Amino acid sequence: MNIHRLKKRLKHTCRRLLRRIKRRRKNKTGTHRIGYGGVSSFRELRALLESSRMFYTGYVVIVTMLCILLSQTRPNSQFRKWYFALTNKETVNKGVEVENEVKSTSEGVGQFLTFYRYYKFGATDPMDVDPNAPMIALTFDDGPSAEYTDRILEVLAANYSHATFFVVGRQTEQFPDKLQDILAYGCEIGNHTFDHKNLTELSDNDIMQQIGDVNQSVMNATGEETTVIRPPYGAYDDKVMGILDKPVILWDVDSEDWKSRDVQAICDKVLSEVKDGDIILMHDIYDTTAEAMELLIPKLKEQGYQIVSVSEMARYKGKTLELGNAYGKIAE
Ligand code: ZN
Repeated sequence: MNIHRLKKRLKHTCRRLLRRIKRRRKNKTGTHRIGYGGVSSFRELRALLESSRMFYTGYVVIVTMLCILLSQTRPNSQFRKWYFALTNKETVNKGVEVENEVKSTSEGVGQFLTFYRYYKFGATDPMDVDPNAPMIALTFDDGPSAEYTDRILEVLAANYSHATFFVVGRQTEQFPDKLQDILAYGCEIGNHTFDHKNLTELSDNDIMQQIGDVNQSVMNATGEETTVIRPPYGAYDDKVMGILDKPVILWDVDSEDWKSRDVQAICDKVLSEVKDGDIILMHDIYDTTAEAMELLIPKLKEQGYQIVSVSEMARYKGKTLELGNAYGKIAE
């Protein structure tokens, strides 16, 4: 092909293309004229709106971020907590574990499990005691007291449990209504002497008076006799045994609540030593004991222990509590 011809043809094609582009541009700006304040086309208006929307969104985002950052400068802010949790994972996890443990031994959980156990597995009466299943007797000495006896009774009732309260005369005279509460909750009243005296150091007459005065006080308040005796300090000898007219109850597990006055220590001590047939020593005169019971009783129920009074445990286990014997536990 001739080079001149090719040149001419290329020139022609280029011109034709240019003309076509010009025509298309003219068509586009020629139509859709809106004439809105300097915006000459719908497309330009849309572009403008789009760019301003972007601008406002950006503005809102930046201001929000600034506000959040400013609020996080406070020492208790979420950001700081999050950062602390991230950098102290081990400590935080340990804390969470402890918190969960406390929650799992809480009264609420225990009650729920108790209800669940009974209703799920179809026993008709939650107060029913299975003589072949493990059971223990909780005992509370030195009361009754203004506040804590009722608090403990409430927890016992919430967990279908009973206990024995070994009362002292100076308290029974002061709180006769608490004695009525103890019996109303299905619990048992034991005799712990009038003045919390060591019986081995008393004369025969004094021993009889220490025991008799409490009996009279309980009888006046409730119309009922005490059923068992716990000599103060667990102290007795043959002479004392010869005088006492009710079975003598000691203990197998000492919660040491009077010594530790610590909720966790009381729970740990009992949980680490408890077994079937045990009699557990506590005192319903301390705030910490009442609080410990709110954790411990549901926990013991969860572990499958039926919680009964001393006389009930003897009855369910088919044992007769005999005079002249001191019982630390009631074994099969
Ligand atoms: Zn005592």
